Amino acid sequence: MYDVIIIGAGPAGISASLYAKRSNLSVLVLYNGESNLEKALKIENYYGFINGITGRELFDSGIKQAEKLGVEVIRKEVVKISNINGMYGVETVDEIYEGKAIILATGNKKILPNIKGIKEFEGKGVSFCAICDAFFYRGKSVVVIGNGKFAVSEANELSHVANKVVVLTDGLEKPECEFNVNSKKIKELLGNNKIEKVKFEDNSEIDVDGVFIALGEAGASNFAKTLGLLQNDDNIKVNDRMETNVEGIYACGDATGGLKQICKSVYEGAQAGISASEYARKLI
Ligand SMILES: Cc1cc2nc3c(=O)[nH]c(=O)nc-3n(C[C@H](O)[C@H](O)[C@H](O)COP(=O)(O)OP(=O)(O)OC[C@H]3O[C@@H](n4cnc5c(N)ncnc54)[C@H](O)[C@@H]3O)c2cc1C
Repeated sequence: MYDVIIIGAGPAGISASLYAKRSNLSVLVLYNGESNLEKALKIENYYGFINGITGRELFDSGIKQAEKLGVEVIRKEVVKISNINGMYGVETVDEIYEGKAIILATGNKKILPNIKGIKEFEGKGVSFCAICDAFFYRGKSVVVIGNGKFAVSEANELSHVANKVVVLTDGLEKPECEFNVNSKKIKELLGNNKIEKVKFEDNSEIDVDGVFIALGEAGASNFAKTLGLLQNDDNIKVNDRMETNVEGIYACGDATGGLKQICKSVYEGAQAGISASEYARKLI
């Protein structure tokens, strides 16, 4: 059981971890996939670097600084977060970590496949959250578009309810899983008022009742949906203390929208770290 678990090792997550750890609490940071910071070739507008610094250098030294302080930093993809009797279970492929408070510092990356019909059928058969919407597909045929661990986890969630679950990789490499996988490139989604078929580039079609999008890693918006967090478009809604509407869950950095810059992520991370620590300490 950790006092604070932070998802994300970019400027928001690492800043949060420094403040939580300095409150003398047990702190775990889980991260996987690229941080936006790693993509920045040179940063020249952040305080204190006369000649600028590469995003990769800043990212690496952030992690080293947290580890030096005693924060546990583990590279693992988080596929699900759930509430277990007032505590939180953070699920990776091979382990569930339990925490009193959770900080979402996942950045804001929602990968939408470039497939005709996705936008048109959103809410009419196209979903971004298996836990939220699986129940609507009891005994029906659904597909999950994606090829990573998140897609397999969503397929697993749906398999308890739906009659048939197929993973569509849309031309990408097949994941290792127990589900039927179709790796043909997808051309478009078809239907009238709701989705009825997936059509592939070779003009073959399959009948479907629901399409679940799960490309890449689960992001801020996916976690928000499963945890019942309020959002503004795809940004998690927080107050000045970085509290979400759900007790014990905090969000910071690009995940909350607004100015998508390092300085804002570092500030919000610090505030989230302080608020989450105060909350966790009350539960000790
Ligand atoms: C090309 C480019 C150049 C930029 N240049 C500048 C600049 O010059 N100055 C500036 O101030 N800002 C710049 N930015 C913006 C800046 O990089 C971001 O604002 C900042 O990185 C956001 O920090 P964050 O911690 O909120 O998110 P991120 O840095 O994106 O970190 C997100 C973290 O969440 C983790 N994560 C996400 N999902 C999961 C999951 N399911 N399981 C486990 N871990 C997960 C990722 O691995 C990552 O560690 C630039 C961005 C880009 C793309």
